Amino acid sequence: MQYRIDKKSGNKLSVLGFGCMRFPRGFGGIDMRKTEELVMRSIEGGVNYFDTAWIYSGSEEILGTIFEKNKVREKVYIATKLPVVLLKGPADFDKYFDQELKRLRTDYIDYYLMHMLTDMDQWSKLKSWGIESWLADKKKAGKIRQIAFSFHGSCDEFLKIVDDYDWEMCQIQYNYSDENFQAGVTGLRKAAKKMPVMIMEPLLGGKLANGLPKAAVEIFKKTNADLSPAGWALNWVWNQEEVTLLLSGMSDMAQLEENLRLADAAKLGMLSPEDIGVYKQALEVINSAYKIRCTGCNYCMPCPKGVNIPGCFAAYNTSFSIGFVAGMQQFVTSTGLMSERSGSPSLCVKCGKCESHCPQHLPIIKSLGMVQWRMEPFWLKLVGVCARAFLGKKRKR
Ligand code: SF4
Ligand code: SF4
Repeated sequence: MQYRIDKKSGNKLSVLGFGCMRFPRGFGGIDMRKTEELVMRSIEGGVNYFDTAWIYSGSEEILGTIFEKNKVREKVYIATKLPVVLLKGPADFDKYFDQELKRLRTDYIDYYLMHMLTDMDQWSKLKSWGIESWLADKKKAGKIRQIAFSFHGSCDEFLKIVDDYDWEMCQIQYNYSDENFQAGVTGLRKAAKKMPVMIMEPLLGGKLANGLPKAAVEIFKKTNADLSPAGWALNWVWNQEEVTLLLSGMSDMAQLEENLRLADAAKLGMLSPEDIGVYKQALEVINSAYKIRCTGCNYCMPCPKGVNIPGCFAAYNTSFSIGFVAGMQQFVTSTGLMSERSGSPSLCVKCGKCESHCPQHLPIIKSLGMVQWRMEPFWLKLVGVCARAFLGKKRKR
């Protein structure tokens, strides 16, 4: 494992951080046994940074349980987050923070982030509620070690927030397909002069790993057949000196082992100018195949009408990147079109609840219209209606 130093705190951090949003799930929630195996193997492999959040359902509790049971709390750094979108007033700062300490079975948080800031107005509102003095008190009491924020807005707004407070870390979305998206490379370089920068979505929700268009995979393979598309994507991030670490949301042992191998060799400047050219070629193919930039984060869910928003978008993208039949199969399965409870895009009533939660700022309603047009022709809708009526009758008997 390679390590980089957080210059603000002096902490020696593994270049591979464990993103705890996508723990393996079974019936009834996160699979405790599999998750414990993953977490403990990652620590054995040198990972010492774990990123979770209030809104990652079940993640804080399970992480706290695993750390306590295996007595490893002092060996790891925990990053968790204040759920800014859920706050109703200053009393909520303590309400969420105290519960997070309980969930994580700890009495301090190493990195505490204002979760998902998108613009200066949001940060100003928190300031008007007294967040600065609340953070200062928590820091003085040793409950929060480093004060930070995660970000999903424009580069301009990012830079305003960076300059407005003595932050000790920030977390941004960054990968070879997002070099100039959100904070982007400009934000990364400016922020890195002041604080460590952690990278989320280095694989764009897995899109840069599995499910790349075949032509893009071939471009990578031709240059280095031993490196997977995920390896190419992570190396692009690690190559940059402004990056302190990247977060990978690992949900099975094969992903973890591959990432550990890659993190062992993750050096600054490891890519040649020829390699950089390869990303550009692959990106041309990827951009023409991925029509909707959904990362599958689920922040927009649940939809009150039951629309499976990320499922619809994933199937739609597959219908371009892999092929129409594969996309259609995925669409029918993920929307449950033939079952009693459908998650089809045609159920959308355009209430707009989902759009305000999307960190990618996707026009979800409009995009669902595109999915419906391509993936749900009238005859398929009819088959779905008949199948559901038949299943309903069978159940009543
Ligand atoms: S706009 Fe449509 S998809 Fe979004 S939450 Fe409302 S009903 Fe669901
Ligand atoms: S639509 Fe937006 S919020 Fe919903 S899963 Fe995709 S990226 Fe996440």
